[in-house]
Amino acid sequence: AKLNHHHSGIEIFRPELAEQAAQRIALETDLRQALKHNQLQLFLQSQVNIQGEVAGAEGLLRWQHPQRGFVSPAEFIPLAEDTGLIIPIGRWVIEQACVILKRWQERAETQNLTLAINVSGRQFQQPDFVDNLIRQIQQTGINPNQLKLEITESLLLHDVELVAEKMKLLTEFGVHFAIDDFGTGYSSLSYLAELPFETLKIDISFVRDMLTQPSMASIVKAIIQLAESLQLTTVAEGVETHEQAAYLKQLGCHTFQGFLFSRPTPAEVFTQERHKR
Ligand code: C2E
Ligand code: MG
Ligand code: MG
Ligand code: MG
Repeated sequence: AKLNHHHSGIEIFRPELAEQAAQRIALETDLRQALKHNQLQLFLQSQVNIQGEVAGAEGLLRWQHPQRGFVSPAEFIPLAEDTGLIIPIGRWVIEQACVILKRWQERAETQNLTLAINVSGRQFQQPDFVDNLIRQIQQTGINPNQLKLEITESLLLHDVELVAEKMKLLTEFGVHFAIDDFGTGYSSLSYLAELPFETLKIDISFVRDMLTQPSMASIVKAIIQLAESLQLTTVAEGVETHEQAAYLKQLGCHTFQGFLFSRPTPAEVFTQERHKR
């Protein structure tokens, strides 16, 4: 229904829509300011292997708004994508990732950790994305093997050949790829075999319901088997309980991420904690 309305070209005036539009514009203005005034932060959430060791972390954006307080990326990333602000924001995230990896190089405790960052479709589709990323990695002297890009299936709906080419270049350079929110998109499964993914992330929605809904358990099982046969490692998102972790482990999942292990924390806190050990 939503789509039809969008494409029909018919606009019905409704005050609540005008209000929503005004709020979006306000949020957009604020987001531009946020980028300028360093109100964005990259938090890190641990990714834990079956031995219970921290194998790496995922970078998750946080926006500390002066009036509204914490604004969730679920709210501002879609807006950033619509307005194009995702381009400078994404560039900033990569900069931060390089700073973090540089710091991780200083000590043996963090030298082998993987840092995963989220990359939006629109960002990845920029013609200079690959060149810029490679240049930034070279300039900072970080190890590209420690960097993993999380992309979603939506990226694979258009121009998959170009995506494949970019992925190939970056993979040859040493950067790794994970497919995020697996199972929630609309793309064909064949890309899994064709594209150089290393990791498949099981979406939080399946993990959340797998112990109460048998159909969800079946999906999780099938995803892990599929990953195994394609020699991809699996990361389960949103693991909140020991029961979920035990079940995933029994099914052969390799890596776990979720509140059970850690909440997203400021990058500096995460790094200091690793260095203390
Ligand atoms: P995502 O990449 O799928 O990230 C996982 C989300 O699950 C994060 O939400 C994380 O905080 C949340 N999470 C982790 N463990 C648990 C758990 O045990 N329980 C529950 N309920 N949630 C858990 P967050 O941080 O709000 O981010 C939402 C989405 O925003 C991300 O989903 C990603 O798509 C996007 N995002 C975040 N940071 C960036 C970024 O730097 N760039 C881009 N392009 N997108 C980003
Ligand atoms: Mg992610
Ligand atoms: Mg995800
Ligand atoms: Mg998600």
